[in-house]
Parts: sequence; structure tokens; C-alpha cells
Amino acid sequence: MVDFGFSINKDRQIDFDNADRRIIEYVAKEESTIAICLICGACTATCSAGNFTDFNIRKITNMIRVGEIENLKEEIKKCMLCGKCQLVCPRGVNTRNIILKINEAIKIFHE
Ligand code: SF4
Ligand code: SF4
Repeated sequence: MVDFGFSINKDRQIDFDNADRRIIEYVAKEESTIAICLICGACTATCSAGNFTDFNIRKITNMIRVGEIENLKEEIKKCMLCGKCQLVCPRGVNTRNIILKINEAIKIFHE
């Protein structure tokens, strides 16, 4: 293959036919504040785990919304449950409890 010095991005279409919506449905039922998230990213900007790893809580909540749960179990373990994200959230989203509920959902549906 000719090396042009760049590559084409991987296809990012969401396959809703194969999306696993069980986790978002469980979390939305148990922690309803997830529905008022603005996706502003303030939680991610202040995240303690994000300072030391590539952990991104906003990405995690987006992933479960579209049913993409690949690597979710490993990613979620990086959260230290410190609660800083919750303190800065402009909408009062209970982000810490969302993480706890995602963990519960993984145990229910994927173990
Ligand atoms: S700070 Fe709050 S509103 Fe903003 S992305 Fe995080 S959870 Fe959503
Ligand atoms: S509770 Fe988790 S997601 Fe929130 S700031 Fe702490 S390490 Fe980051």
C-alpha cells in the first residue's frame, strides 16, 4: 500500500441494531439525573482519575447511551469514586452514583 503520510479515520457509525441498551436503561431507572446531563465535560475536566489515566467520564456516559459497551468494565475500574466530578457539575448530575450504577449493571448483565 502507498504511504501517503495520513490514514482515513475508522468508521464511527453507530450500529443501533447491535447496541446493548440494557446498561443505560438500568442506570436511567436507578439514577434519573443522567437524563439532565448537558455533556458539557466539566466532570471530565476535573476528574482525578483523568489526571493520571485516559479515563473520561463524559465519554463513558456517551458510550452507554449509544449502547457501545466494549471495554466498559475495564474503563470503569479507573474511577476512584472521589466525587469531584459531582461537585463541579452545573446540572447537579449525581455522577458518582452513575458510576456505581454502571458497575451494578455490568454485574447484572455481563457477569
Ligand atoms: S459536568 Fe454534569 S452536565 Fe457536564 S458532562 Fe458532566 S455530568 Fe454532564
Ligand atoms: S468520582 Fe470518578 S469520575 Fe468522578 S472525579 Fe472522581 S475519579 Fe473522576
